[in-house]
Amino acid sequence: MTCKDGQIPSTGVARSKVAEAKYFGILYAPRINGSSTSLLYPVLLPRKMESVRTGKQRYPSEKKKLRRIKRENPISEIENKDEGFWRLSKLGVVVHKDPGKDYLGICDGLLEAIAKVLEFPVSTMLPAEPFTVVRKSFDARKLLKEPKFVYTMDMEVKKLLDLEPRTWDFISQLEPKVGLIEHLLQERDSGDLISVINNAKKNHNLQTKTKPKIAVVGSGPAGLFASLVLAELGADVTLIERGQAVERRGRDIGALVVRRILQTESNFCFGEGGAGTWSDGKLVTKIGRNSDSVMAVMKTLVHFGAPENILVDGKPHLGTDRLIPLLRNFRQHLQDLGVSYTFLGQKKVTIKFGTRVDDLLVENEQVVGVRVSDATNELHADSQNLRYDAVVLAVGHSARDVYEMLVPYNVRMVPKDFAVGLRVEHPRELINKIQYSALATEVRKGRGKVPVADYKVVKYVDNVNNGETTKSRETSRSCYSFCMCPGGQVVLTSTNPSELCINGMSFSRRSSKWANAALVVTVTSKDFDALNLHGPLAGVEFQREFERRAAAMGGGSFVVPGQTVEDFLNNKLSETSLPSSSYRLGVKAAKLHELFPTHVTEALQHAISMFERETRTSSPIQISRDGNTYESASLKGLYPIGEGAGYAGGIVSAAVDGLYAGFAVAQNLGLYEGGIESVLGKAQKSTGIVKY
Ligand SMILES: Cc1cc2nc3c(=O)[nH]c(=O)nc-3n(C[C@H](O)[C@H](O)[C@H](O)COP(=O)(O)OP(=O)(O)OC[C@H]3O[C@@H](n4cnc5c(N)ncnc54)[C@H](O)[C@@H]3O)c2cc1C
Repeated sequence: MTCKDGQIPSTGVARSKVAEAKYFGILYAPRINGSSTSLLYPVLLPRKMESVRTGKQRYPSEKKKLRRIKRENPISEIENKDEGFWRLSKLGVVVHKDPGKDYLGICDGLLEAIAKVLEFPVSTMLPAEPFTVVRKSFDARKLLKEPKFVYTMDMEVKKLLDLEPRTWDFISQLEPKVGLIEHLLQERDSGDLISVINNAKKNHNLQTKTKPKIAVVGSGPAGLFASLVLAELGADVTLIERGQAVERRGRDIGALVVRRILQTESNFCFGEGGAGTWSDGKLVTKIGRNSDSVMAVMKTLVHFGAPENILVDGKPHLGTDRLIPLLRNFRQHLQDLGVSYTFLGQKKVTIKFGTRVDDLLVENEQVVGVRVSDATNELHADSQNLRYDAVVLAVGHSARDVYEMLVPYNVRMVPKDFAVGLRVEHPRELINKIQYSALATEVRKGRGKVPVADYKVVKYVDNVNNGETTKSRETSRSCYSFCMCPGGQVVLTSTNPSELCINGMSFSRRSSKWANAALVVTVTSKDFDALNLHGPLAGVEFQREFERRAAAMGGGSFVVPGQTVEDFLNNKLSETSLPSSSYRLGVKAAKLHELFPTHVTEALQHAISMFERETRTSSPIQISRDGNTYESASLKGLYPIGEGAGYAGGIVSAAVDGLYAGFAVAQNLGLYEGGIESVLGKAQKSTGIVKY
């Protein structure tokens, strides 16, 4: 799809998958200056800013959040203000006083902001050494007088007093303020996972006579982190991956994008690193950015080659180009620990993938192994039984065959609400201009001072009935954007040629001329019932149905159906020649407004014109498991984890689920005796609604 001058093209295609929102068509947003076009200006509206709302102006959710923070952090009298650290948050530095997004040191503008908080009169007298940047983000919301970089800093008091003793008069007056000023006796430092485990090994007796044999199925973030923990703790781990290693997977993806050859077992969803390898690599998460477990994941990524700024950046992202070498280093480390990547017919070949788990081996109601076959052999002719003490199932959101395989074993699976929708594509420059106005020139294809602009929008849509809205919860829906890829491209994430699904990816600089985002609406079991789909896999069937319809609308060969937003809103198809798009396999003008059930389309149409804030999506299925042991609630020896099992919704949350699961399995098999929470804090009891 190409975007004509002055138009906002929006792309959206979709193939619904088990645990993520699905996009089934491409939308082209209309002209920027046209009268009817402001409808697809979601980016114009999310401007409400928490920090400028005080007292009664605060939203109920903000008041609730503040109450929770106060409850969790009761402010007590500080006796030793000259000890430990002070954490200063929400320090704003305007763009012209900041060296830019890639600079993580202490600039003069930041010292000015610190001096203001301390009420220290001369900022130039403050030394930089005692200060460390903990978080840096960019805030361009229009309620601000001027866009700012927003910092969280740690101030090491002893060092500051040594270098500038006159600051004591001011520090002695410093009092904690919820969310702004916090006194920490010790710097929190969780370390990377490898050092965390090595420390845990020192503190606990981890000698075991037997080395349990564990199969981890899937090498996405959940499987990789579970494997890492288990292997570091001494288990005999076999990581089984149906897709290929990143080198060959890259070639398979190239063949798909250039020659339309879809390898059903090695593609954007299947292969080393899982679904997030050819992605934007956004490392944002809603499970608590500062928690020890998230920090351990981030530091582990740095250990394997991610740039250190992901530890500080408010919206960290890696991009495909950085993920690939990182995964190679991860693989090398696992191999060094003795984890064997299996391949049929060979005893232990270290760098081979392409092995698919087709079935479980179950004896006396306990999983005792898996049946595998060469994933490149469609006939499954060479299947083989492999026995293990435990099987960790980290198969992600695309392994529908695995869910179907679990049904005869009565593995308890709970259907969940999830989201379907479209992807919207715009020119990157347009989003920069809308978000940043004159500052847009500072983006410079991702190399400038300010980051490439993104957005998040949400609208809770009440039931629309004959023009009248009702507040019926049963038919009201959340409509929201997510997985925004500024400077990215739309890619095909189908794993079956007769189904169509897309997602977004980008490279680290985010320098493509496009920006795309998902625009989705929640669907529930009522929607599945309406299509006569029942049972735990009803949601999966619902997704499959619309993926097929989307493929048919596109006319085959992975051509994606597309429509301008203006036409979509008006239920018509007037623009048959669509603007260009980042999607390389072709876009065909189609009546996307006829793709979904009417109420889904209406909710999307209604929401497009009224976006105002953000929310999150959920997965359509959850494999029930014990909250402490992570073992399936209905089948012993099986450990369902990650996004596919309904316990994560993004790279970081899947990795965190994997690491907790790794510890839990190790504990169950006698490899680890210490409490996990004492090492990494409390695991979030996920309900499967985490998206990122
Ligand atoms: C294009 C795209 C872009 C994305 N962008 C982002 C982003 O920017 N940020 C973010 O946080 N999230 C993003 N996501 C989502 C993110 O990738 C997933 O949430 C995350 O990868 C889930 O991790 P997982 O380990 O649970 O599963 P997955 O990553 O899906 O990994 C599962 C693995 O299991 C393997 N497998 C499946 N079945 C079998 C079997 N039978 N036998 C052997 N192996 C099997 C698969 O091949 C796969 O490699 C994106 C997803 C896509 C598709």
